[in-house]
Amino acid sequence: MTLRFDNSYARLPDRFYARQAPVPVAEPGLVAVNRALAARLGLDADWLESPAGVAMLAGNAVPEGAEPLAQAYAGHQFGGWVPQLGDGRAILLGEVVAPDGARFDLQLKGAGRTPFSRGGDGRAWLGPVIREYVVSEAMAALGLPTTRALAAVTTGEPVLRETGAMPGAVLARVASSHIRVGTFQYFAARGDEDAIRTLCNHLIERHYPQANGPLDLLRAVVAAQARLIAGWMSFGFIHGVMNTDNMALSGETIDYGPCAFMDAYHPDRVFSSIDRGGRYAYANQPQIGAWNLAQFATCLLPLMGEREAAIEAATEAVHGFGPAFQAEWLARFGAKIGIAAATEADLDLIETLLSRMALLRADFTRTFRGLLEDTARAEFAEAEAFDQWEGLWRDRLAQEADPRAVMARANPARIPRNHRVEEAIGAAVAGDLAPFQRLNAALARPFDDDPAFADYSLAPRTDQIVHRTFCGT
Ligand code: AMP
Ligand code: MG
Repeated sequence: MTLRFDNSYARLPDRFYARQAPVPVAEPGLVAVNRALAARLGLDADWLESPAGVAMLAGNAVPEGAEPLAQAYAGHQFGGWVPQLGDGRAILLGEVVAPDGARFDLQLKGAGRTPFSRGGDGRAWLGPVIREYVVSEAMAALGLPTTRALAAVTTGEPVLRETGAMPGAVLARVASSHIRVGTFQYFAARGDEDAIRTLCNHLIERHYPQANGPLDLLRAVVAAQARLIAGWMSFGFIHGVMNTDNMALSGETIDYGPCAFMDAYHPDRVFSSIDRGGRYAYANQPQIGAWNLAQFATCLLPLMGEREAAIEAATEAVHGFGPAFQAEWLARFGAKIGIAAATEADLDLIETLLSRMALLRADFTRTFRGLLEDTARAEFAEAEAFDQWEGLWRDRLAQEADPRAVMARANPARIPRNHRVEEAIGAAVAGDLAPFQRLNAALARPFDDDPAFADYSLAPRTDQIVHRTFCGT
């Protein structure tokens, strides 16, 4: 099996990365190969599952044409500046060119130490690998831009974490690129204008070929993030670590650390054990998105001509986030209540429902899906709160041509609920991959009714609720 590589990032100047091969592991073992994604990339899934394929996925064999490297980047973590982060446990093997010409980064996460590892061991354990596999694939199935999971393998080596010695694993991650806000910040902080210009041109060529220069690029990135974050909000997704190094400039969701899909709705919901101040709470995500984009804009200023004018134009572009997000949010939430093209006049109706859901901690996914199935009322501890809203809603829907079809496309029956993800992780660590496989199958078509997967639509019982999530690094 030969992979078709064309490694544009490896052709950028040396200071963009450190050349670094994956560190071989003791005993590679197959966990999963994503056959549909393999087909999309033009890779032979049978080969990936063979001993030679598993050896590559574990980092024990570097495929011909790969030019493995660890990318340099910096970032604001929880608002605090860190001048050097970089791939501390991920190796970019190279860029695979699919049969249709699309280009994808192929990265091994958990592939060993790199010059950017700082104190870390460069490894991942099976729990976070399973979590990222399930949740990133669910995100893709929900129709949102995201990094993907091509495969997961175990290493046969223990990884030491707070919880003790855990089974080591490697995730083969696929992304349209891994260029982050933090990649620009790395060079901006060093006053390396040449590098910023090179990276800007690379980004335009790769993701925004229609953009005419840095200001236009900034506008396109702002629009992509507004779309993405509104999409997250519409499925009750909380990213959990929206540091600038975890914002991909392609507009894809990246870094499935302590992320979670909410069960009971509340705008202040936080899951991450390390997010003590609630900086990355559900309802803060748009503001944080705009804050991160302001950091990106700052990096581009040296390319934008005269300083005063550049600041004014960049500020205006970043301020475009608010209206862009609002429009995307309205379209998404309008659709969730069956309105094909919601306008400002519909805001009240949407917000009234959300505030009642928050007050009564109604399950986010079940309530919206319930609007389609006439079961939403049961999600409210005090049903009158719903009944009153329902009257207004039905009046509004009388003006819609096919509200059920609109809702069916906007309201999934199944999301990767935390307790089911935890269940899959627990079983996998104990050697049973069946719950992981069944969960993936259930989430592959989240908008379809499927009686075989009805249990995944259930909210957790009180004793099943997961209150905290962990990065697992
Ligand atoms: P994350 O929290 O996954 O966004 O990672 C933040 C930074 O820590 C990145 O530079 C990672 O490469 C690095 N990092 C996380 N876990 C490890 C690890 N086990 N070994 C080395 N570096 C790590
Ligand atoms: Mg990260």
